[in-house]
Amino acid sequence: MTTIYYGQVMDVPDSPFTGGELRSETTALTVADGIITSRGSLSDAKSAHPDAEVIRFDGILIPGMVDTHVHFPQLPIIGGLGMPLLQWLDECALPQEAQLSDRTYASDLASRFVGALARAGTTSALVFGSHFASAVDLLFDAASRSGLRITTGLVVSDRNLHSELHTTPEIAHEEMAGLINTWKGQGKLRYAVTPRFSLSASEAMLQVCGDLFTADPELFFTSHINENPEEVRVVAELFPDFGSYTDTYHRFGLLNERSVLAHNVHPTAPELRRLAEAGSSVAHCPTSNASLGSGLFPMSAHLDAGVQIALGSDVGGGTGLSLVKEGLQAYFHQQLQTEGHPLTPAHLLYLATRAGALALDLPEVGHLGEGMAFDAVHFSPVEGSTFEYVLGQAPHASAALASLFTLGTEADISAVYVDGEIVSQRSDSSDKVHTALSLR
Ligand SMILES: [Zn+2]
Repeated sequence: MTTIYYGQVMDVPDSPFTGGELRSETTALTVADGIITSRGSLSDAKSAHPDAEVIRFDGILIPGMVDTHVHFPQLPIIGGLGMPLLQWLDECALPQEAQLSDRTYASDLASRFVGALARAGTTSALVFGSHFASAVDLLFDAASRSGLRITTGLVVSDRNLHSELHTTPEIAHEEMAGLINTWKGQGKLRYAVTPRFSLSASEAMLQVCGDLFTADPELFFTSHINENPEEVRVVAELFPDFGSYTDTYHRFGLLNERSVLAHNVHPTAPELRRLAEAGSSVAHCPTSNASLGSGLFPMSAHLDAGVQIALGSDVGGGTGLSLVKEGLQAYFHQQLQTEGHPLTPAHLLYLATRAGALALDLPEVGHLGEGMAFDAVHFSPVEGSTFEYVLGQAPHASAALASLFTLGTEADISAVYVDGEIVSQRSDSSDKVHTALSLR
């Protein structure tokens, strides 16, 4: 089954932080069995595949976006404004997360969550699961039906949260092993060992996490780090014999190239060196950092140290699932700092796509070159919208991409593809005429 997609394609295969540039072409992508087998002129594509269906699209096609930090249980509490991190957790996030013990509630939320990710143009995500194994099982199930590339796991804590969210290292180990056994490697699913953060995990709990993680090279590790000054202070009090917040993960073997730490707004220089040495990535979550007043992300310090960065929505601390919005906010956060790193539209697209793919060890996605999986988002502006007008006036590709990042919303997404199959589409989407793609 071969299909030719023809229209304006924008991607950033190589990092613009090291010289990569925006690739913007009106081009034909030949897709067979979900893989882009060639990229070039329409006439060449048609003569090579005379029987292939040709889909001409308006607007802009970009790679599927990659969310490297998002909380499944927190979808309903987006918009909890006006609180710093620890108060927000206590009053807003943790009471909501306790509701996930109810299987019916968790099942409904899991379906809504993966559907919402797809609608936002997110095709791959590293997801903070629930504290309840039954809810994580339901999330894996919903994820497997969604067609999305989801990496997630049981969130584990044994102190300093609300007691109904606490477990023991022994039970945590048993439940994590069970979920890994059932779901790891099923289709596009992978497992992430996920202590909530060192503030809520004892050394025994981190040890259990480290034992699992270091024993299986297919696992991922994710947690929070250096998000808020008060949180950093409490972690230092809880771990007086450890050199830093980063050290609380490092000492248990939790840092390698499959580790993604969310936030890192307040790192020290030695911590950045440690993360760079380990090859670990940082999920930058700008709307959350602004909303909770956590601080402005020191991107230049990360880049200078050689730490990989990508974007996360951090829903529900973040203000929505759109990585387009996170990209724009990342730009704002750098603009507001004297030491900020100037970001172009190409940087924003790279951070929202390829950077996340590399952080999640998904080398087959993140750009739309030959040999890549066809994970893509078709932006077709709402008719009569300001986005449609500005995009039409854009004097060059970079300006067109800037209009997408400033004005593009979920409503402007016509269709979302993973492995060449539609995982979400707008009701008026012309993409739906392609009936050969199975609708999920
Ligand atoms: Zn988070």
